[in-house]
Amino acid sequence: MQDDATRPDVLVIGAGMAGITCAQALAAAGQSVLVLDKGRGIGGRIATRRATLPTGEVSFDHGAQYVSAPSDDFAARLEGAGATHWQDGADKPHLVGTPGMSALMRALAAGLEIRQSCEVSALAQDGDGWTATTPMGQLHARRVVVTIPAPQIKRLLGADHPLCAAATNVDMQPCLTLMAAFEPDSPRPFLHRFDPTHPLAWIAQNSAKPGRGNTAVTWVAQAGPDWSATYLEGAPDLIAAQMLPLLCDVIDADPRDALHVSAHRWRYARATRPLGQPFLRSDDHSLYLGGDWCLGTRVEDAWTSGSAIARDMTGLANVG
Ligand SMILES: Cc1cc2nc3c(=O)[nH]c(=O)nc-3n(C[C@H](O)[C@H](O)[C@H](O)COP(=O)(O)OP(=O)(O)OC[C@H]3O[C@@H](n4cnc5c(N)ncnc54)[C@H](O)[C@@H]3O)c2cc1C
Repeated sequence: MQDDATRPDVLVIGAGMAGITCAQALAAAGQSVLVLDKGRGIGGRIATRRATLPTGEVSFDHGAQYVSAPSDDFAARLEGAGATHWQDGADKPHLVGTPGMSALMRALAAGLEIRQSCEVSALAQDGDGWTATTPMGQLHARRVVVTIPAPQIKRLLGADHPLCAAATNVDMQPCLTLMAAFEPDSPRPFLHRFDPTHPLAWIAQNSAKPGRGNTAVTWVAQAGPDWSATYLEGAPDLIAAQMLPLLCDVIDADPRDALHVSAHRWRYARATRPLGQPFLRSDDHSLYLGGDWCLGTRVEDAWTSGSAIARDMTGLANVG
């Protein structure tokens, strides 16, 4: 357990867009904040994976593809973090991080104290705040903000906690994601396509985004919710082997030409029925639950939720 001098005012659990947004706004309002995330990197579902090919490094945005049509405030914040427009012919601007989506999150998180690989396994309220159980010991703060996917919250708080009922009403769909790389002269029939009737509902030519280099043609393909649910528990290698021929069929490539193939399992990718309000709060205002699932399925929903929590905690209108 920390001594009083090292206890932050607020513990933020989750270093995705919601948690980072909230933490920065609280820090700007003068609160001491410690962010905890179970991942090795930060960003949550805004994620980039790297792979080394004989010809050099490639990367894949295997979570959020871009941020579309954000509000002016949010767009300015993203552009300040280095986001650029992907000229993909879409009606609405699509903002991406460079050299990968995760670069956005690293920039947005600058200056925060973040402990990575720090999974919170339990949260308990005690005399003057909350205690989080982590592999680094017990951490204490007067107030806690939890920004993890809704279905995971009851593991932290216990199913009987009054806020859990509302959070666990939010259902989140899985998404299996394929990452594949081919030689630079391989087919590039489109930049991205959405076809909800195909097992691979979304396919994007990742290497066509700005600043990705020309080592290889890289693709990210996301299986639709039904296909993802059917094969969710498969081993990642097996999932990748099943998805690769489906991709190759669409892009007119030969699976044997793939230079890199891997898959990622997003167990909680998108809310099917969001909460309908920007956050949940305990009666004593010491515990807040937030994240994209409160409002929708997009990065901007996470940002709105994180900003709203910080505003509520500080009583300031202009944070976020
Ligand atoms: C495949 C895919 C494609 C997407 N495409 C788009 C897109 O193109 N555009 C768009 O706007 N949105 C897209 N989204 C949605 C977008 O990624 C999310 O809306 C947004 O990133 C959610 O942010 P968040 O902070 O609410 O949650 P998350 O990003 O999930 O952050 C939660 C964090 O909590 C951490 N965590 C969980 N449990 C614990 C624990 N017990 N202890 C400590 N840490 C914990 C996790 O490691 C994670 O970092 C996509 C999502 C997926 C999965």
